[in-house]
Amino acid sequence: MIPCPICGRELRITMTTYETPFFGKVLLTSISCECGFKHADAVVAEFKEPVRFTIKVNKDTLFAKVIRSTSGTIRIPELGLEVEPGPASQAFITNVEGVLMRFVEIVEMAKRWNEEDEEKVKICEEILERLRRAMEGEEELTLILEDPLGNSVILSNDAFRERLSEEEASKLKTGMTIMDITGLSEEELMRLEKL
Ligand SMILES: [Zn+2]
Repeated sequence: MIPCPICGRELRITMTTYETPFFGKVLLTSISCECGFKHADAVVAEFKEPVRFTIKVNKDTLFAKVIRSTSGTIRIPELGLEVEPGPASQAFITNVEGVLMRFVEIVEMAKRWNEEDEEKVKICEEILERLRRAMEGEEELTLILEDPLGNSVILSNDAFRERLSEEEASKLKTGMTIMDITGLSEEELMRLEKL
């Protein structure tokens, strides 16, 4: 059994495997405990190398699937927005629109925190407007997903994939790994999938 890091009770672990056309198996693990502790992570079983995916956000790409591992950094350079891995980051599977919606939530939170500062509120409102326009297909933005561990993926023919240099990869945060499942053998992974 694996004890909960918060309360010590036994953790519930679920694993889901996704077969993806170009990146092989993607494994999504989620760990939870009765006390409310939760953690999710995604691991790409093949092609482990530092990667960067770049995709133009427009009507044709809004529904492209995005798998962001806890080691993935997401950026929208035109708006100066970035989500880096942190101790509380969770893996998620969503689409480009879902990523934009997450940014909307983050910027709305920033707006509330800065409600005394007229200038910052104005900047937040401008960013929110541009995110909404992008979701309507009226403005083209760029979405960049970088992962030094190669566990994040944008599944689309419109996404440009490149290998990161060692230097670029070393500047990225990798987040926290609670359970190292990448060290497991194929056989062990198969067994875990049946749980
Ligand atoms: Zn617990």
